[in-house]
Amino acid sequence: MKPRIALIAHDKKKDDMITLAAEYLDFLQGCTLIATGTTGGRLANELGLTVDRKQSGPFGGDLQIGTMLVEGHIDAVIFLRDPMTPQPHEPDINALVRACDVHDVACATNISTAHMLLCHLKMAAKKKELT
Ligand code: PGA
Repeated sequence: MKPRIALIAHDKKKDDMITLAAEYLDFLQGCTLIATGTTGGRLANELGLTVDRKQSGPFGGDLQIGTMLVEGHIDAVIFLRDPMTPQPHEPDINALVRACDVHDVACATNISTAHMLLCHLKMAAKKKELT
């Protein structure tokens, strides 16, 4: 099964998300991608990725992704948070990150861990291809 990855970025982190996704484009093209509305729109328009776009974060997109995760449909989350700017949907954000911890789903909240996570998933996928 293809890795199922959720991608979410707060406004000031969206450029970073695009840069990150561009770096792993080949790998991400072979994944099932789920994203919040605006993040997903940018990934689709700017990189041509196929993305299952949920609602925008402030309109409940984080909760929609949280539900999928709780139901076992997400393998990893990359959630580039902006810790410097208050977000109107902070409780939803915390709920999603908590759900990752409850269900032991890998969750990267900054670029450094996002690289580690994607690098690992990419290597695991390559290994699978070889076996
Ligand atoms: P967005 O939502 O991708 O629709 O901006 C992200 C968020 O704010 O959690």
